[in-house]
Amino acid sequence: MSDEDSPAERKMRFLFQLRSRGVTDPRVLESMEAIDRGLFVRGQFADRAYEDTPLPIPCGQTISQPSVVGLMTQALEVGARDTVLEVGTGSGYQAAILSGLCRRVYTVDRHRRLVQEAERIFSDLGLYNIIAQVADGSRGLPDQAPFDRILVTAAAEDPPGPLLAQLKIGGIMVVPVGQSDAVQTLIRVTRTEDGFDYDELRQVRFVPLVEGLGQT
Ligand code: SAH
Repeated sequence: MSDEDSPAERKMRFLFQLRSRGVTDPRVLESMEAIDRGLFVRGQFADRAYEDTPLPIPCGQTISQPSVVGLMTQALEVGARDTVLEVGTGSGYQAAILSGLCRRVYTVDRHRRLVQEAERIFSDLGLYNIIAQVADGSRGLPDQAPFDRILVTAAAEDPPGPLLAQLKIGGIMVVPVGQSDAVQTLIRVTRTEDGFDYDELRQVRFVPLVEGLGQT
């Protein structure tokens, strides 16, 4: 990407990349057009915010690749009246994308610093339907359950039992599953009247879901 790109050209290129990688849902594209990823990436990587690549954020974590954010959001089939739980706030980018698509987003991270930094951006952007909390998301958020949708943005070895239990009937959870440092499979779990249906979506690579709270 050349340094002379204007913001408008950068945005067009960003959206083109998303579409060419399979993000086609107009509501998802609209939400991704409205939220500037550059606000969620600071320091030496800020100038790469519009590339379709994951980037480092504090606490040794990563902001996900935009096309993966788009594909996961699309797979979640979020409705305007839904309450969504995101496990793994990270930079807050994914939560901000969800914010425009549903009634309320609960987002949790085990790192206090990440939650605080994300909250500041949500408030700067006026995204008042996002509630961010420091919590071990592998246990879900029992006080706010059940959820219409659950999005896990860290890799678990199996879909965590407490999260399955906190999904409404008819609800959908999207979660990367597999060994933490290998390639994982993104799966979509749909809760039915009498159990769960599982769909495999694609290969992905996420940082691991770690139990307990972080030091910072
Ligand atoms: N969705 C983020 C990217 C998430 S990276 C974004 O849009 O930027 C994965 C995040 O999951 C990390 O911030 C990590 O701290 C968090 N995480 C890992 N295990 C967790 C757990 N048990 N509970 C809550 N957050 C967890």
